[in-house]
Amino acid sequence: MFSHTDFIDNFSKRIPDMPAAFHDSQTKAVYIDKGDFHRLRIYEHMLHEIIHTAAFHKFHADVKNRMIKNYRTGYGFKDPRTNGHEIFYRFNEAVVDKTTYEILRKHADELMQKLSITPEEIKVSQFIYNPFVNILDKIIQRIADKKGESETAVWQKLERGQFTGEMMHLRDIEKYIGKGLLKKLANIKFMEDAESDLPPEIINE
Ligand SMILES: [Zn+2]
Repeated sequence: MFSHTDFIDNFSKRIPDMPAAFHDSQTKAVYIDKGDFHRLRIYEHMLHEIIHTAAFHKFHADVKNRMIKNYRTGYGFKDPRTNGHEIFYRFNEAVVDKTTYEILRKHADELMQKLSITPEEIKVSQFIYNPFVNILDKIIQRIADKKGESETAVWQKLERGQFTGEMMHLRDIEKYIGKGLLKKLANIKFMEDAESDLPPEIINE
């Protein structure tokens, strides 16, 4: 954990668009900008990055440059043939965020007791809800509806897959929502892409 100045001094040259926390898939190290974030937010950042490091990983040996590169983290791929183009980047982040929220929600009482976080602090903290999690929720709802499964069952398959590497259940997105949707989801990096590429019923309330 670093102070904001140390964090920027140490990492901003290496990492463009500096996030508040990041991880290293190879060493499983997690780096956190303490900044002046609320301590619950710091905990949320930490948990998010730890989930990334615990996720299913694949590495690729770049023989030419004598480097080991991360090829897959959870649902996210970095394609070595296309200069590191990221596939399912945003989708994977949404799954990680949703997993983070579920853990925090499940342990809210414990957090309040052990870290003496007050209900007021929880209210003040208001996690920055990744808008893509709303899209993920919509996808889960639609699959659950059409497949006749509970939303929990659909989500648990998705949640588990990030750790086991299993991806077959993603076919349900094509099967129950629409052809071509998986490819669109794979290429979404920013919210604006989501707005222009995904069908409105997935985006809008
Ligand atoms: Zn992340």
